[in-house]
Formats: sequence, structure tokens, C-alpha cells
Amino acid sequence: MSKKYVYLFSEGNANMRELLGGKGANLAEMTNIGLPVPQGFTITTEACTQYYEDGQKINDGIQAEIMEYITKLEGITGKQFGDLEPPLLASVRSGARASMPGMMDTILNLGLNEDVVDVLAKKSGNPRWAWDCYRRFIQMYSDVVMEVGKKYFEQLIDQMKEARGVTQDVELTADDLKELAGQFKAEYKSKIGQDFPTDPKEQLMGAIKAVFRSWDNPRANVYRRDNDIPYSWGTAVNVQSMAFGNMGDDCGTGVAFTRNPATGEKKLFGEFLTNAQGEDVVAGIRTPMPISEMSEKFPEAFAQFEKVCKILEDHYHDMQDMEFTVENGKLYMLQTRNGKRTPAAALKIACDLVDEGMIDEKQAVAMIDPRTLDTLLHPQFDGEVLKKTPVIGSALAASPGAACGKVVFSAEDAKTWAERGEKVVLVRLETSPEDIEGMKAAQGILTVRGGMTSHAAVVARGMGKCCVSGCGAIKMDEENKQFELSGKTFHEGDWLSIDGSTGKIYDGAIPTVDASIGGEFGRVMGWADQYRRLKVRTNADTPHDAAQARKFGAEGIGLCRTEHMFFDADRIPAIRRMICSDTVEQREAALAVLEPMQQSDFEGIYEAMEGLPVTIRFLDPPLHEFVPTEEADIELLAKDMGKSVAEIKAIIAGLHEFNPMMGHRGCRLAVTYPEIAAMQTRAVIKAALNVQAKHPEWTMVPEIMIPLVGEVKELAYVKKVVVETADAIIKEAGSNMKYLVGTMIEIPRAALTADEIAKQADFFSFGTNDLTQMTFGFSRDDAGKFLDAYYDKKIYENDPFAKLDQTGVGKLVDMACKMGRATNPELHLGVCGEHGGDPSSVEFFHRTGLDYVSCSPFRVPIARLAAAQAAIKDEK
Ligand code: PEP
Ligand code: MG
Repeated sequence: MSKKYVYLFSEGNANMRELLGGKGANLAEMTNIGLPVPQGFTITTEACTQYYEDGQKINDGIQAEIMEYITKLEGITGKQFGDLEPPLLASVRSGARASMPGMMDTILNLGLNEDVVDVLAKKSGNPRWAWDCYRRFIQMYSDVVMEVGKKYFEQLIDQMKEARGVTQDVELTADDLKELAGQFKAEYKSKIGQDFPTDPKEQLMGAIKAVFRSWDNPRANVYRRDNDIPYSWGTAVNVQSMAFGNMGDDCGTGVAFTRNPATGEKKLFGEFLTNAQGEDVVAGIRTPMPISEMSEKFPEAFAQFEKVCKILEDHYHDMQDMEFTVENGKLYMLQTRNGKRTPAAALKIACDLVDEGMIDEKQAVAMIDPRTLDTLLHPQFDGEVLKKTPVIGSALAASPGAACGKVVFSAEDAKTWAERGEKVVLVRLETSPEDIEGMKAAQGILTVRGGMTSHAAVVARGMGKCCVSGCGAIKMDEENKQFELSGKTFHEGDWLSIDGSTGKIYDGAIPTVDASIGGEFGRVMGWADQYRRLKVRTNADTPHDAAQARKFGAEGIGLCRTEHMFFDADRIPAIRRMICSDTVEQREAALAVLEPMQQSDFEGIYEAMEGLPVTIRFLDPPLHEFVPTEEADIELLAKDMGKSVAEIKAIIAGLHEFNPMMGHRGCRLAVTYPEIAAMQTRAVIKAALNVQAKHPEWTMVPEIMIPLVGEVKELAYVKKVVVETADAIIKEAGSNMKYLVGTMIEIPRAALTADEIAKQADFFSFGTNDLTQMTFGFSRDDAGKFLDAYYDKKIYENDPFAKLDQTGVGKLVDMACKMGRATNPELHLGVCGEHGGDPSSVEFFHRTGLDYVSCSPFRVPIARLAAAQAAIKDEK
């Protein structure tokens, strides 16, 4: 049997979302439960896919099937499509599987031409309405189907209102509207070169095509990327017989939510306009009245609508967002869907629904989008001021929250300005680890270069600091402390606002409001924790971040990047001395200065984590990141080392690498300088012993992690240094403390030889940042420059540094888990790349059987919720 591409509303149901889209499935469901729905049919998402496969054409078979359903609809409604008495008019709307509000297109009043309008005008005795419908149809069809652009038509309406001396559309008479329709058609002809189509079938196919085409419009593509909606889903199209809200004063149209979508309050919330059609409510041309006033104007329809709201909530067990029309006092439901809501409202509604007995706790956990939790934990812009402030650019939403401050160009300036009480936004070409203190002092960070796992992004997320990265549109002139964006030059001290949740950049100051977490947050998180199997750890390098993460529910540290401790002003001289040493003895002397500092850092972190597991990773970055760049600092180092400036410069030049991310870094440093690994081992073990002595009730098991291993012998070599050093200290302390030595899996070769590597490792932690970089062969810092072109060409749909590439990188992870566990069944498995805080990646890690995910502190709640959702989904 050939595929069925079209379904009457009466043939579908709510479970057919994939095929009918959300709107189509819900129209069918409302029909099934007996609500007043103008009848129609849905053309499936598969027809959309077929349209693209056929080279953006609706093939003859599908066209014939659509026309067959038009005939069926004529039978149901008793009206005739394209005939005069009584004419069938239809709306054509998009409806994808996931709702994408405002992203795609709608056409109303389809089926009209001058002859039909004449009949409608006579039969209804309401010529004003008939001509209003027609002018709207021409306007929408021209805009949506033929892409003429709305503005020409709006100009014509404005001219007409001016000529008649009126201000409102509703004040135009039937004759005015008839004249306008004529002008619109002339406009159409002048733009398109053809007459406006009069054949309803031609209009219908044009409209359906336009909806399919709108699946691929730029705003839909961006929305999909932001909301994790695959391109391959396609959109369905709903063809529905019209109910008219613009027939007179006993008609109207409205949009309403069963609960307040901003606060979650259980009270009908919405707007209503009399004598109007759908788009008028949202277009802002006329000011709609609050829905409560509808009860006075249309008491019967309102009472019925309230009943429908209750039926729909009871049916869907969720807050509904509905569109409806009142035609001559009679209510028609045009749409219902689970309403979009703010994160705070989402939590309140979930808790209320549980308390009302509508859903259970598991359903409550499953209904909240984990990605939205972020916004609850960070400051946000004042909504009113935000609306009025122009967006001057946008880039990667690298770390959420809102920031507003004066522009500064260096980390040092950020620090000094902040010390004197100024709020600053640090704008940099890119950030380096040296900028940490400036980043801490700033309200937010904006960079010209860098992707989602660039230094700026990773560090900012760790701190919970707002960051927008990779804004290539900025023309940077760091030397003269200025940059250009959107034609404006910004100087030091100018106000700038950035939103790390949306990636938008604003000219000027927008006040921020602090985050507030209500009791519902804790309740939902508590429920989530009952269902998840994955543990959630955090990536933290300081006691402060560790304590923050504990508050958000972290169950340990999965990655402590020790190099971040080396950049503080009192430590950097010692690390530089170590790098510039000529002999092992000199290096050891420099490391001896660092050791107590590292030890006390580790003690602080152990204390903050209260006996929970802590994985400490040994030094990872290439050494050139630590050496000075400023002349004065180079001179200082030369003096300190008793060397000439030229000698220091020669050492620095010697550290230069063409490809430092693949250069002398990770465990390669420990292979060349085992004394570094020995020092770090001493610091870890001594810290653990001290903390254990202070807290006998805790069981300290330090976890030492060796980065960037690609060959088992590398790991074996460094491990030997660790074990010899650790065992000696533990023995000397008379302790029997256990410790673990594991490795990151972040080089494809490590994944490919995981069975071998597992023989030497107590645990694997997948470093999916580097693993993505090395598997794709493109730089985590530079990919932002070309990824847009890849999105445009549909080569990639998402940033693989933000959302795990499950097909490629994921295959390596899966394989390494299986091979690793085959040789070492006790092997503990985790992930500490940025993907550990991305919901769809967390679901993958759950399925792959990892023991934990680790992510930046502010993402811990997201990971907890995503892990619970993954487990709940798995049960089904
Ligand atoms: C990784 O590569 O995924 C990782 C966690 O290490 P880093 O980001 O420090 O390179
Ligand atoms: Mg790495």
C-alpha cells in the first residue's frame, strides 16, 4: 500500500505527533474529545521530507491526495472549495513535531477571489467583512508565499487611513477595503509580474509549498539549533476550514494560557480582540483586551471557553496555550499545545500539578527542560529596558547570565577598575589563562575569537560568569583600546551589555536583576535525584567553586585543572622559574616553592567537598602559556633567574610551537619532567593525609588523573612516578590510605587502545573537548570561524563542542567503555568535557553506561535533571 500523506482531523490523535506535528495531533485529539474544532486535515511531516527529496516540489501523487481530502472536507462542511455557494475557505498553518512559535508561516482566508468575495458579501449582508478577508488574504499570500514583503501593503493601509482621516483598521469601510484589495493586487502584479492567483487549488498548493519552505528559513534554522530540534523532522501542514472572528462585533479572536506562563500562577491568562482575525492579536496593531473582559462581551462563549480550558488541562495534564475564535457568538478552538513558560513558571506549574494530583513526581521531572534551569541561577536583564535597547551583535552564548559594565581591554584594567568600584565588561581578542583575575573582576567577558570550549568559555562557565565568545564581527584595536561593532566605535569606559544565555550584545547599560531560586527548584531537584543512575560531579579548581557546586548538588569533583592554580600573582614567578631552569635541581627547587601552595589548595578543595571523591588532574597545558609576554615581566624573570633578557627570550622562543594543542602538553610534560608529576603527587597525597587526619569520619581516596595519554606505556611511565612517590609518603605517615590513578581519554588513540590502557588505569574520564577536537581534526578555539558556514550548508546542525557528536566521537566513547571494562571490570567511568553539562549528551552518557558526568558548577542542576530524564526515558 502506498504511503498515506494526508489525515483528516478525525483520523488522528495526540500520539501521532511525529507524523502530524504537534498542532495537527492536538487538533485531532480535540476533535476526538468532542471540542468545537473547525474541521480540516493534516499533511504529514513525511510529505515535507518528500517535498525536499523531490527538489522542493509537491509531487503529483501528494497533490492528488490533498485534493481528495479537500473533497472530503467539502463533504464534512457542506461547503465548496472554489465554488460560490457556500464557499469553503481555509487556513494553512505549519506545525512541526516540537512547537516553534512564530518560526514558520500561516495563511488565512485561502480560497477567495473577487467572485467569491461578492457572493460572501451578499449572502452575509456584511460586505465589510468579506472585503476585509480578501485584503488580508492577498497581504498574507503575497508575503508568505511570494515573499513580496509586508511593508508595501502596510504602507498602502496607512495611506488609506490617512486619506479617510481614521486611525484604526476597523474604521475602514467595505468600499475602502475593496479599494485596498485592488491596490494590493496591483502591487502584487508590479512585484511578481503576474496577476494574483484566482484559482483556489493554485492558491492552496502555493501556500502548502510556502509552509514546507519555511521549515528551512533562517530563523527556523537558528531556533532549531538552539532548541535541539533535528532538521530531518520536517513540518506538517494543517488545512482547516475558517472560523471568522472578523464578521462583526459579536465575533473575535484570542490567545490564552490556562496558567500564567511568566509566573505559573493558576489563573487564565490571555488576550482577546473583537472583530479581528488571528494575527491582529499578536501583531500589536490594536491593543487587545485582557481575557477576563471577554466574560462581559461574550458571556456564553467565555463560559464555554473556561470549560474547554479545564477539559484540556485535565486531558493533557499540563498548562495549555490555546488559540480560539468566536464567530457570531460561537466558540471555535483553533489550536492547543503545552504552553511555553519561563523556567520559574515551569517549576511552579510542575509542583502545582503534582499537588493537584494531575501528574506524579516522575512526570514532573520529565516535563522541565533542563537547559532552562541555567537562567534561574544567574542574573538577568531587566525585561522592560531590554526591549528598548538595540542589539548590536550576537555571537556564541558561551556562559549564561547577563552582564552590564564599562568596556575595558585588559585583565589588569578589569581588576583596577573593579577595585575602585566600577562595573566592567572585559572585551578581548581572546582570553588566556593569565586573564583569570581580570575575568573574575569583570561582570562579563566578550571575546572576538574562541568557541564553546575555548579558554574564556570554559573558565567563565566554571566561575558562573557571563561570557559571549567568538564575535568575529568585532574589529578589535586592543592597542588603542577601542573596537568597532555595527558601525560604532567603542572606547574604554563606554557602557556595554552582554547576554551569555542568548549571545546577544547590546549598546549601553541594561540593569540586571539577581537570580532567585524558589522552593520549587529544590523540590524538583529532589525528585530528579531519586530517578537518576548517573552521578553528577563538577569541574572546579578552587574551594569557592567547589563549595558553589556542592550547593547545586555536586557529588564530587570530576576534574580539578591544577594549572589554573599556577596563574595567581604569587605563584607565576615560581612556575616561570621552573620553566627556565637548566638543571633538574633548579627545577626541583622551583617546584619546592609551588608544592606547599598546591598542597594547601588541595586541602581547601578536599575540605569544601567534605570527603566526596575529588579527581585531580596533573599539569596539562603547553608551557608557553605560563611565560611572560610583556617586556617588563621578561626583565623581572631574567633578574630572578640571573640570566640575560636575551637568554630568557631565547627560552621563550624555544617554547614556541606551531600546533601547541598537539604539542608538548598533557602527560608529555610529565614524561619529560617527571619531577613535576612527583611534586603534584606529593601535594595531593599530603593534602589528603592532612584532611583525613582532621576528619577521621571521611574516607579520603585521592584520585590522580593523567591527561592526554595516547599510549599505555606513557601512562605506565607516569603512573610509576606517582605510585613510588605516593606509596613512600603514605608509608612514612603510617597510613593505609588508598588512592586511584586513572587517565583521561581524550586522544582517539587512547580510545582505540582502551583495552590496553585499562590495564594501567583505575578510572577513565573522557575529555570530550580534546577528543572532539582531535576526532574532527579542527581546533576547539577556532572552529567558530567556519561552523556557521557548515550550519548554513547543513553539513553540521550543532556545535560538536557543545553537543556531543554521538555518531563519531560518541562511537569512540562507547567503544572505549566496552574495551576498557572488558580488561578491567572494576574500571570507573566518567566524562569531564563540557558535554557533561549538555542534556542530550548526558542522555547519551547514561545509555553508554558511564558512572558519572562532571560539569561546571552552574550546570550541575541541569546535569542532575537531564540524568533523571534519561533514566526515566530508559524505563519506558
Ligand atoms: C577535555 O579535553 O575534555 C578536558 C576536560 O580537558 P581540557 O578542557 O582542560 O583540555
Ligand atoms: Mg583536554
